[in-house]
Amino acid sequence: MQSIAVYCGARAGTRGALFHDAARALADCFARAGLGLVYGGSDNGVMGTLANAALDAGCHVTGVMPRDTGLKEQAHEGLSELVWVGSMTERKQEMMRLADGFIALPGGVGTLEELFEAWSCAQLDMHRKPCALLNVDGYFDGLLAFISGARASGMIAPAYADMLIVESDPDMLLTRMTAYQPPQSRWR
Ligand code: AMP
Repeated sequence: MQSIAVYCGARAGTRGALFHDAARALADCFARAGLGLVYGGSDNGVMGTLANAALDAGCHVTGVMPRDTGLKEQAHEGLSELVWVGSMTERKQEMMRLADGFIALPGGVGTLEELFEAWSCAQLDMHRKPCALLNVDGYFDGLLAFISGARASGMIAPAYADMLIVESDPDMLLTRMTAYQPPQSRWR
């Protein structure tokens, strides 16, 4: 893997430095692994913290920003590269094209939407790249319980559910992503 896309909140959140520290720790892991960061290009919230930490650590950081986010998001002006696209849909497509894997950090609706699109495209064999969650301080526990329930109810096939890599430690997350083997063939 040469670069990984990280989806995360455009808001700072209310849990003190926890999510921001996790973003910084992940950025350090990227630098040690020689990985480039692809992200949404915003200067706000956890996204801004992640980008600044990755730049400080010496990573190549590519932002992918829609011309009009419809939100009060500011483009980060100090990135290695900033790619402007026409829409949110194009942003997801471009991030998926540029990156060799996908990680969600704590975030909101946008983050979840981006992760689920990457994961659903993996199910459909539209790409064969790893999809992962960094479960910082149990932030995603509720979502993981839902996924587990959906699997138990037969709504998510076990093999699809198993595609999502979940860890609370960023080094372990990257190790598992590097070792990820996509399923040999599509299944139902
Ligand atoms: P959030 O997790 O809601 O704070 O949003 C994180 C990032 O996702 C922000 O940069 C949003 O602009 C972006 N975002 C929100 N909705 C979408 C979408 N439908 N497609 C792509 N990016 C989105």
